Amino acid sequence: MTKRSLVTGGSGFIGSHLCERLLAQGHEVLCVDNFFTGRRANVEHLLDQKRFELLRHDITFPLYVEVDEIYNLACPASPIHYQFDPVQTTKTSVVGAINMLGLAKRLKIPVLQASTSEVYGDPTVHPQVEGYWGNVNPIGPRSCYDEGKRCAETLFFDYHRQHKMDIKVIRIFNTYGPRMHPNDGRVVSNFVVQALQGKDITIYGTGKQTRSFCFVDDLVEGMMKTMATKPGYTGPVNLGNPVEQTVGELANTVVRLVGSSSKVVYSDLPMDDPKQRKPDISKARAELNWEPRVPVEEGLKRTIAYFDDLLSRQSGQDTRGA
Ligand code: NAD
Ligand code: UDP
Ligand code: UDP
Repeated sequence: MTKRSLVTGGSGFIGSHLCERLLAQGHEVLCVDNFFTGRRANVEHLLDQKRFELLRHDITFPLYVEVDEIYNLACPASPIHYQFDPVQTTKTSVVGAINMLGLAKRLKIPVLQASTSEVYGDPTVHPQVEGYWGNVNPIGPRSCYDEGKRCAETLFFDYHRQHKMDIKVIRIFNTYGPRMHPNDGRVVSNFVVQALQGKDITIYGTGKQTRSFCFVDDLVEGMMKTMATKPGYTGPVNLGNPVEQTVGELANTVVRLVGSSSKVVYSDLPMDDPKQRKPDISKARAELNWEPRVPVEEGLKRTIAYFDDLLSRQSGQDTRGA
């Protein structure tokens, strides 16, 4: 029987890739999105497939539909967007989680939560293992996102313990690839767009802070492998690429791959910006038989090609600034 998958946040960056992969595997897909940061354009190529349905809906309101599994991705993910309306960000994570858990409880179906490495905050344990409880400021500018996601995890585990529900919690580390929003302020999209346009590459702080970047195709595979685990497998499980680099190194790589003349400029580091981040993926390797396969340079090349095409179409001319 065809499985019906609900993907909340399905027209966002990661969600659109997940919808695509689920359709390719024969699922019916109900994509629910309020289009806050997601775009119709991300799923437009799927609209003529009979097994795909797009519904404009805000998950902070109840949702009554009939599906077989839920991937809960709805939530703005970039600091400038989640800080734009922080109260709505917390509501999306917390009230949205309650609604999706209520839906899954009524239907007795598995529900997967897209949690985040931000639950570890500015980590003092490195690399981050799932058993680490984190170092999170509860009242800072990032808290709406971090604490919202932490509370969502709490709700998922309480519904599991209290209602015996089949929950799956994944902690996603920095993910990049085609269909990132060009203006959402994340480091990979910013650097790639700046390099393609010949503009200054904006490093916040010294550029010595580290991140570990996972290509979106690898992440989506990990998400689907998590959903395929037996009932009772809850996670939390880290999904990310353990190859750590400084933001300064990323800037150099992007400039080199684009062949850009951009120069690097430095500005203030945002408050509570984590100094280091790298996933320990031993659990994902052992329990899901998963690890990333796309090397960072390869993924960056595909991302650069996407933005090059997007910017050329937007301006109707070659966008390279070099
Ligand atoms: P994104 O902003 O591109 O996608 C989020 C989607 O959720 C958008 O389409 C947005 O319109 C939608 N949305 C937001 N609030 C909603 C609401 N109340 N109701 C319905 N839809 C709503 O971000 P993304 O990078 O694709 O992230 C997807 C998920 O993965 C998020 O939950 C994010 O927290 C998580 N995540 C992403 C990363 C990353 O590096 N990209 C890292 C950790 C966790
Ligand atoms: N809910 C939903 N769709 C459903 C079932 C429930 O959106 O198919 C929402 C409903 O708004 C409810 C929430 O999920 O407030 C939590 O449901 P639960 O059954 O846990 O709580 P209760 O209904 O008892 O408050
Ligand atoms: N960053 C940067 N320049 C930019 C955008 C981001 O130096 O134009 C830095 C940011 O301060 C952080 C890192 O890059 O240290 C990753 O930022 P992003 O917002 O992509 O993700 P997150 O901080 O949530 O991991």
